[in-house]
Amino acid sequence: MSDQLTPELQQKIDQVVTQLREATAQYQGNLVLANSLGAEDMVLADLLARYLPDISQFVLDTGRLPEETLTLLARVTEHYPQLQVDVYYPEAAAVEAYVREQGINAFYQSQELRKACCGVRKLEPLKRALTGRAAWITGLRREQSVTRDTVAFSEWDAANGLQKLNPLADWSTKEIWAYLRHFNVPYNELHDRHYPSIGCAPCTRAISVGEDVRAGRWWWENPENRECGLHAASSIPLRPR
Ligand code: SF4
Repeated sequence: MSDQLTPELQQKIDQVVTQLREATAQYQGNLVLANSLGAEDMVLADLLARYLPDISQFVLDTGRLPEETLTLLARVTEHYPQLQVDVYYPEAAAVEAYVREQGINAFYQSQELRKACCGVRKLEPLKRALTGRAAWITGLRREQSVTRDTVAFSEWDAANGLQKLNPLADWSTKEIWAYLRHFNVPYNELHDRHYPSIGCAPCTRAISVGEDVRAGRWWWENPENRECGLHAASSIPLRPR
């Protein structure tokens, strides 16, 4: 272990574990972590491995992920043999149709085509991953971007029809990295190359000093629109009990 945990961070860790334990009871274990393999989700994966290994996880492999992300996925399954990590892929026929009709990199042409690509490669697999679930867990944080500054600890996900838990909503970037370093958690090596937020390879770039942490995602679009649809605005925010 390295870096000491502050009392404030230890308290936040305890709150996350409490929230997830209560949610496990409330939803009778029918909840799942959407693990994007980003820094926040690695904190959550590590916490689940320590305290709640029965909560399963899924990863969406869009077919356009960076090699470094796939390397991390392999490391996660080796590092945490106690965790169940399911990988969901897009429907091959839908990807083939999109590429045939629009082109392999059509997402650069318009926001409509970008969202269509995210729909095929992310949203449809997400729907399958969430089918039958009562709640899902995400690593969303308010500090991440203008599109996330109202994230609640628990909120109704109207788009997907289940509860969404965001236990790291009030964590700072500094706290995320203090946790990762303290517990020597594996993480995506792109983070060390100025990629604070990592998605598909063609839609992610490194950022410069002073830029917003999500400035490297769909950088050619307006910041207010830089979401893929996985986290559509929810309607009823609820704090954890
Ligand atoms: S992030 Fe880019 S490549 Fe990935 S699904 Fe969305 S548009 Fe397609």
